[in-house]
Amino acid sequence: MSTSATGTSDLACAACGQVHKGAKLVTLPDGSQVSNYSEAWRAHTEAKWVLEKLPLVVNRRRKSTPQISRRDYIMGVEHRRGKHAADNLKRGVRALWLVSK
Ligand SMILES: [Zn+2]
Repeated sequence: MSTSATGTSDLACAACGQVHKGAKLVTLPDGSQVSNYSEAWRAHTEAKWVLEKLPLVVNRRRKSTPQISRRDYIMGVEHRRGKHAADNLKRGVRALWLVSK
């Protein structure tokens, strides 16, 4: 477990505010430490998933590959969660892409 002096409240869940069993501090690409139940970590893992798993262009003939493009997914986020959420995701994906080059 973490020996951080920042306290257990940092581990609180972004959705319900409780500290869940299995909550721990994790490190974002910028070096900051956050709870694995925080919105920052959720956003990071989503951006990482979009960048690493979703194609730029879907190959309709290869059904074993994801049948949704990065753009389609981000448009879906905009539709369901709003423009602000989609813009944040776009920024996150771009930031990860930049450091991956
Ligand atoms: Zn929760």
